[in-house]
Amino acid sequence: MPCNSPAEENLQTFLNARMRHRQGAVFISNPTTGEILAAWNSRLAFDRALPPGSTAKLVSAAAALEEGVISPEDRILCRRVPRFLGEPFHCAHPPASEPYTLTWALACSCNYFFAELSVRLTPDALARWYAAFGFGQPLDCLGARHASGLVRIGASEVARARAAIGEGSILVTPAQLLLAYSAIATDGQAYRLWQRSSKLAGAPHLSRRVRLQPKTLGTLRAGFQQCVESGTCQGAAVPGVEVAGKTGTATAHGASLAWFVGYAPADKPQVAIVVFLERGTGAADAAPLAGQILKEYFTRKGARR
Ligand SMILES: [Zn+2]
Repeated sequence: MPCNSPAEENLQTFLNARMRHRQGAVFISNPTTGEILAAWNSRLAFDRALPPGSTAKLVSAAAALEEGVISPEDRILCRRVPRFLGEPFHCAHPPASEPYTLTWALACSCNYFFAELSVRLTPDALARWYAAFGFGQPLDCLGARHASGLVRIGASEVARARAAIGEGSILVTPAQLLLAYSAIATDGQAYRLWQRSSKLAGAPHLSRRVRLQPKTLGTLRAGFQQCVESGTCQGAAVPGVEVAGKTGTATAHGASLAWFVGYAPADKPQVAIVVFLERGTGAADAAPLAGQILKEYFTRKGARR
């Protein structure tokens, strides 16, 4: 049976130390093959369905571009309190001096922008794009069928706006989220997750192809890079490596849930990562932890060259 390489064991040891006193789950994979390089709490990552918060803006952004309801150059002025959603979902980014493009709205995680965008989409179109990225469907990995999560979008403007920012009746597993962002890293190809040390190890297996126009891929990638350069994901930055990703913060049963999901290097991805923490925020907790793990990965990789 194949064994983990020393580099992977070291990354796993590093991850174990970082997660020992935290509640949550982390997956680090190679997006071009689906191989899991390190994992913390696989059971949670595969089987807990959770509100994705703003990480779901990947889906609403892709849907809006592919359905032709916005172009990469169109702009919307943020008025801080989103229509249909109200004060509890007000924007946390600094006041915008000019209207945002979709790229900047992703980088700043502008709720106002995505609430406005949501009413241009039908509930069916939004649901179709959630499905295109694999949400709401069971995930077959490591010889088991895992949780499907939930995608239910009502017809009202409020329901659409909530779905566009990952709230309401949208639930995802960390593994589903990792595969959705991996598809952006690899021109739409999502590989089934597998582990070299598992008895079920096998060759890379393409499990899903998300068909996206080049301008959609380019706009999303630019948004995720900008998010790490100057937006809510700055904690995930690694010196000398361009990281791309998205944060999310959601509320469940009174607790604040923290997300970061992304990939690096942005221009030629070698690694994809999802971090989920049961306490905290995406910007203050999940993104910095992802940054530490990515830094460890690239430092060790550099040392082996
Ligand atoms: Zn805003």
